[in-house]
Amino acid sequence: MRSIIYIILFAGFGLQAQESFVITNVTVFDGEKVLENQNITVASGKIIAIGQDELTTETTVDGTGKFVMPALTNSHVHVFNVLGLAQAAQAGVLNVFDMHGMETLQGVLKEQRDNPKLATLYNAGFAATAAGGHGTQFGFPVPTLEKPEDADQWVTDRVAAGVDYIKIIVEPWKNTISHETAKAIIEETHINDKVAVVHISKAEDAHQVFLNGADGLVHLWWDNQMTEAQMEAITARENIFVIPTVLTTVLMQELFMGKSKEEAGELKNMMLTEIKRLHDAGITILAGTDPPNANINMGTDLYKELAYLSEAGIPNLEVLKSATSYPMDKFRIANKGYLKKGYVADMLLLSKNPIDDIKNMESIEMIWKNGVLLTK
Ligand SMILES: [Zn+2]
Repeated sequence: MRSIIYIILFAGFGLQAQESFVITNVTVFDGEKVLENQNITVASGKIIAIGQDELTTETTVDGTGKFVMPALTNSHVHVFNVLGLAQAAQAGVLNVFDMHGMETLQGVLKEQRDNPKLATLYNAGFAATAAGGHGTQFGFPVPTLEKPEDADQWVTDRVAAGVDYIKIIVEPWKNTISHETAKAIIEETHINDKVAVVHISKAEDAHQVFLNGADGLVHLWWDNQMTEAQMEAITARENIFVIPTVLTTVLMQELFMGKSKEEAGELKNMMLTEIKRLHDAGITILAGTDPPNANINMGTDLYKELAYLSEAGIPNLEVLKSATSYPMDKFRIANKGYLKKGYVADMLLLSKNPIDDIKNMESIEMIWKNGVLLTK
């Protein structure tokens, strides 16, 4: 397995190393706000200066009339090979959060974190699910749980495997773990100082797992709108987030649930309404697309999810945060997701400003990972 992976890896994407350079006179989204006419200086893979000071390096990229922003993060993916990580990187998606897969394979892929041709993988390892539950149908063996008492050992095993966070599945369309077991896993996760995210599909389950301490949801519910009382109850929690995966959920309706285009359209509208409610209630939204489900790709399809978030009524500045700074904040990853002094130089140069129109995400001209240019 390992040798095959490495052969694919070195098959080659054009690369050009740049030790030190400055992007001049550019509009910057730094992960927080927009700054005009800036010079961004990069050296040894890090941003060493940002401002309007005199230039200190001879290698320049003229940013006049252009827009620079942190590289994108897809907060919900499933990666099974390096080609997925390469496809993500080519679209400017330099970080991907895997939400259930083969732990050993993920360990091998994570060894490639500093490879400038590939997106950096963060992983949950195996998701927590019941025997015969959602997540056990993909053809690889998955360790399962029966009861709250199983949580301690199960979380200990994930932490020993080096996972970055813990993912739990509460999915009553199949055999599922109980809310009591999910709560026990969340508690063990927090004892281990990690973030606990949960797959749900129903509003009541979303409400319940948030009351039981979940940090985030990897999907938005889609059975019903949440009641005002439920929404108020979860809003009392601080620092929680939702990864709505609108694109996935809508595509799945037509592909696998036998729904018509009209029915899928109605569901989409309901989801966008719920996203706006969450946003207005101060709950953080993160962008994710759940590839390869519904044949969604690891790269450019993330732009479609950003367009949905914009359509929901979230201001485009916030939409950009949902795929840059917010994922790094919520998953507690240091020195990434912002363009600030001392941060990793994972950056995108666009010819058009995506705050004017989110569709301008398609205008990416240059991508740097750790300050190394990825040629398109
Ligand atoms: Zn998923």
